[in-house]
Amino acid sequence: MEIFSRFKCTFCVLIFCLITGNSFAQTPAPFLINETHTFASAFKAYKNMAERYPTKCQFQQIGSSDYGIPVPLFLMNESGLFTAAEIESKNVILINNAIHPGEPCGVDASIKLAQDLLEGGLPKNVIIAIIPIYNVGGAHNRNCCSRANQNGPSEYGFRGNAKNLDLNRDFIKADSKNTLAFYKIFHYLNPSIFIDTHTSNGADYQHTMTLITSQLNKMNPELATYTRDKLNPYLFNKMEEGNYPMVPYVHPLGKTPDDGIIDYLETPRYSTGYTNLFNTISYVTEAHMLKTYEERVKSTYLFLNEMVTYVDNNHVELTEVRNKARKALIEKKEFALNWIQNTTQFDTIPFLGYTAQYKKSKVTGVDRLFYNREMPYKKHIRYFNTYIPTSYVTAPEYYIIPQAWDNIVDLLRANNIPVYQFKNETSLIVEMYEILDYETTQSPYEGHYLHSKIKVNPIKQNVTYRKGDFVVPVKNENIRFIIETLEPHAPDSYFAWNYFDAVLQQKEWFSPYVFEDEAAEMLDTDPGLKTDFELKKAKDTSFANNSFAQLYYLYKKSPNYEQSNNKYPITRLMKSLDPQLLEASY
Ligand SMILES: [Zn+2]
Repeated sequence: MEIFSRFKCTFCVLIFCLITGNSFAQTPAPFLINETHTFASAFKAYKNMAERYPTKCQFQQIGSSDYGIPVPLFLMNESGLFTAAEIESKNVILINNAIHPGEPCGVDASIKLAQDLLEGGLPKNVIIAIIPIYNVGGAHNRNCCSRANQNGPSEYGFRGNAKNLDLNRDFIKADSKNTLAFYKIFHYLNPSIFIDTHTSNGADYQHTMTLITSQLNKMNPELATYTRDKLNPYLFNKMEEGNYPMVPYVHPLGKTPDDGIIDYLETPRYSTGYTNLFNTISYVTEAHMLKTYEERVKSTYLFLNEMVTYVDNNHVELTEVRNKARKALIEKKEFALNWIQNTTQFDTIPFLGYTAQYKKSKVTGVDRLFYNREMPYKKHIRYFNTYIPTSYVTAPEYYIIPQAWDNIVDLLRANNIPVYQFKNETSLIVEMYEILDYETTQSPYEGHYLHSKIKVNPIKQNVTYRKGDFVVPVKNENIRFIIETLEPHAPDSYFAWNYFDAVLQQKEWFSPYVFEDEAAEMLDTDPGLKTDFELKKAKDTSFANNSFAQLYYLYKKSPNYEQSNNKYPITRLMKSLDPQLLEASY
């Protein structure tokens, strides 16, 4: 299926040639000093490459962004082909830049990488896909200083997009058009490797490049072992050889890295948390904010270039491991949903730090932290790199979605998830979740009041579904995405992101003076209920002193109480269905 339209603008090229007198630079551009491309100049650089090497690359415009113009995508392949079959036969590396436009090292590193590879020769086994600037709106909102603790460049874009969303929290809730464009790009390319380029915050130390490897124990074990034992050691060695010794992202356990660092728990709302769900080995490069901009770009370039070399040289093995992982995933039955940091297990890693010291603050008068660059050190620090699952779920055969919630079906379809519909009214015994408890943020978070610590109780129930209600088969390559979004107690489920808040509000109530008589009759006619009620009063003083609470307790046990309250409407079917009952849904 051809989903991309190839960029063509002969007229624009003509105008550009007339203005510059020389449409294409003949030698690769040097690294920019303390300066980053604007959206327009980055666009022009890729357009020039596409025009100069029309048989090797394509510059495409995908979907839209909240800013109103498409998300650009640049593709390079030695054969010049970008068909589905060609993509399937090679390994794709997808590089995403400027999701946070104030952290643009990857924007400039990628332009130079593309120029150098086109100039010097493309790898045979790799298709390189670059999103030049993902946060289109943020990139157009240029300013001098919104990254308060960052050493240049002199001007850059803003973190929030055109809707003031942090796009690196939007990969599940999909409030932005950018995310919908990303889904198209990602599922068309099915990349083996995904890299999201960033700039760090936090501590000071000697390293220029730090790296987040997507959480390994969420991945297929064979793919995780391959990443940990083969790919990562290669990358760390090559960065060291290139004079940019790299460490895992410095997320200190305590106040400074001296006490050790911990792996970042990236749930599916983050880019790499999302791509990880589809057996894509995923990384976040975090160049250090206090190094010069040129050094940050150079180290990002080195990382990207080494990744291209590795994947090209290890194409067969990487494809094999990934194919095994894709098959194994379909057979997997139990999935961990929530995780906590393992504080007992750690590796030790060499770390090039600066000594943390304290002195009196000129501002507040209390002791303040500073890193003494006159006192660099090399020592081993603890690296806490594992998480322990705290809850599991067994995958059902299907999730069933009543058609009232077709907005969820739209999101699944946007993620290439096959969906079916009942041909006729169908009665089934299914598992339905009762929402027992949850916490909610008190202030808005990324346009939502996110729920967390969600507790559910599964109940078996006979439900009659209407013709047209949706059925989602689970046992396919999308299984992890389906479970992470449709199990309400997963940290980034659609439930957590408020898609089902309507079921959390009781619709009908009672007047105590009217209900009093019915409540009294319930107690008279049901001795078991009366015993429970008296016991609760004896144990719980506030209940015993609150007449409304006592009536509400009985109301919830009466036939008047609505059955839909706190019931999660998407149900789980644990057995296979006769395919004759279903028709494909588009
Ligand atoms: Zn960032």
